Amino acid sequence: MTSLSDLPLRDDLRGLTPYGAPQLDVAVRLNTNENPYGPSAELVADLASAVSGMAAELNRYPDRDATALRTDLAAYLGHDLIAGQVWAANGSNEVLQQILQAFGGPGRTAMGFEPSYSMHSIIARSVFTEWISGAREADFGLDPDKTVAAIEEHRPDVVFLTSPNNPTGTALEIDVIKRVLRAAPGMVVVDEAYFEFARTGTPSALTLLPDHPRLIVTRTMSKAFAMAGTRLGYLAAAPAVVEALLLVRLPYHLSSLTQAAARVAVAHRAELLGMVDELRAERDATVDWLRGRGLEAADSDANFVLYGRFADRRAVWEALLAKGVLVREVGPPEWLRVSIGTGDEMAAFRAATQAVMEEVL
Ligand SMILES: *Cc1c(COP(=O)(O)O)cnc(C)c1O
Repeated sequence: MTSLSDLPLRDDLRGLTPYGAPQLDVAVRLNTNENPYGPSAELVADLASAVSGMAAELNRYPDRDATALRTDLAAYLGHDLIAGQVWAANGSNEVLQQILQAFGGPGRTAMGFEPSYSMHSIIARSVFTEWISGAREADFGLDPDKTVAAIEEHRPDVVFLTSPNNPTGTALEIDVIKRVLRAAPGMVVVDEAYFEFARTGTPSALTLLPDHPRLIVTRTMSKAFAMAGTRLGYLAAAPAVVEALLLVRLPYHLSSLTQAAARVAVAHRAELLGMVDELRAERDATVDWLRGRGLEAADSDANFVLYGRFADRRAVWEALLAKGVLVREVGPPEWLRVSIGTGDEMAAFRAATQAVMEEVL
């Protein structure tokens, strides 16, 4: 049998392991920041009828420009956006890849402030864009002066700001984003995958779009929208940015089935986003509970909590798994991340954590 090392693989990919959290079949899965609430029977029926309506036309390619879906997404986002300012792809990961294909590339650099979403650097490297790692403060926020200084020093072609940040949950002040936009010589991507979970009053970077033609705001249906399986991510930016992405997207990248399902999801947004308030309350209660146990927990504007610290986080992760609770080993070395599940799932998380603290710590 030929093994991977026998193949003429790109040198820079040799020895790498694929990205991805373990997909384990356990009772309480709190490791990939999914929304724990599935669609209602009524919504399932609407999805099925939209998909079966499309099925009769599957001999034809989809609408390459996904115009109807982009119109719906623009209306959902508000801020007077139009379809020409919105772009969609198979998950925001594909959106991010297209951004880097268009604005990064050989001889160019991209910069992010870590700990943050590691796919930013992984996608950058996969399209031959050099990655520059900037730092966050001890509270996982960004110091505006230091951030601007780092950008002025490295002059990256693409800057990533994740707000709320994964895996820390930290939302950025809008003023930091404005300072970065002024300092950055190239594109600025604000990854708002978790925006719908932010505390009330947190402004979106979408408010900055009218004055900033090099700003891109990315969103996803995978988290608050409770549609991770659909694979639908999108962005808002100036129309010229969308024109740039058309140069690198594969033709017909978004299947007719995906487009149909995503349009039904946008139409049912009241239901899909209906559990966000409950998840936020559960998140805040989880932070309080962890702190009440003498652990550290980062303030969170997302649907997960980064907590610790554990000298041997692997042992804690394994002990929780043995009790049927799957969390994520991610972020700075002594921390773990728990996604917010249903009330019952969080009760199971608390019981398992309590027991593990008595056994392991
Ligand atoms: C989950 C996540 C995404 C990607 O989500 P998709 O499922 O590809 O839409 C993007 N950015 C951040 C920060 C995330 O946590």
